[in-house]
Amino acid sequence: MEPFEENCPIPSTHEKCAEARYFLVQCLFSYHTPQPFIFNLNAFIQAIRNITFMLQSENSKLIGFQEWYEHKREEMRMQPTLRRLVEARNIVVKQNSLTSKSSVACGLFRGRRMKLSMSTDITPFTKTEIILEITSKFVGNLFLGGEHEIIGEQAGVERTWVVEELGDGEVVAKCIDAMNYMIALVEEAHQLSGCSSKLEFFGLADMREFTVLLETDADPSLFEKWNWIEK
Ligand SMILES: [Zn+2]
Repeated sequence: MEPFEENCPIPSTHEKCAEARYFLVQCLFSYHTPQPFIFNLNAFIQAIRNITFMLQSENSKLIGFQEWYEHKREEMRMQPTLRRLVEARNIVVKQNSLTSKSSVACGLFRGRRMKLSMSTDITPFTKTEIILEITSKFVGNLFLGGEHEIIGEQAGVERTWVVEELGDGEVVAKCIDAMNYMIALVEEAHQLSGCSSKLEFFGLADMREFTVLLETDADPSLFEKWNWIEK
């Protein structure tokens, strides 16, 4: 997304949209480090709220704004996550509200799918790498007998962050839906002034690229060590 096209009718709104998108990407990249994840999630929540504030304060070039926006507000009210993000009191996610419903699963993976899970008693706020280290030892001894003969079978940890204030279900997926709604809203707003922003939607092929941490993600040299690559 280019933050500013030439003669953008709503530059601050456009910039906030880019900012929200930036922090949403950061949420994905910090998925396995709880504290930075919370910082990025809160920054995203702030930025996405500010899109609608900005839009309401810089609508002078948008033809028929009031009527259009009234309709959009109704639409946002119908969507639980958006309503919570945009309309409700300012949400600030804290450690307790993040960890109360979140889950961590660890065990033997094939590709990025869990094959055999281990039962564990983990404090969710622990960095995934630390959980993975413990998991690797168990999986290596119990399931793999110290060998890594089957390519793609290794220890892994899958996280699911759930934030009560934003509803049930994995939180980043909810944020992506909200982000895409906002991108469509900002695009429509551009069109009210007769131009197009060509904002791109936020697409993600497989959340497990980010929610699962495998041994080879944490240490890519393992591919060679385990003879998983042709030399
Ligand atoms: Zn623009």
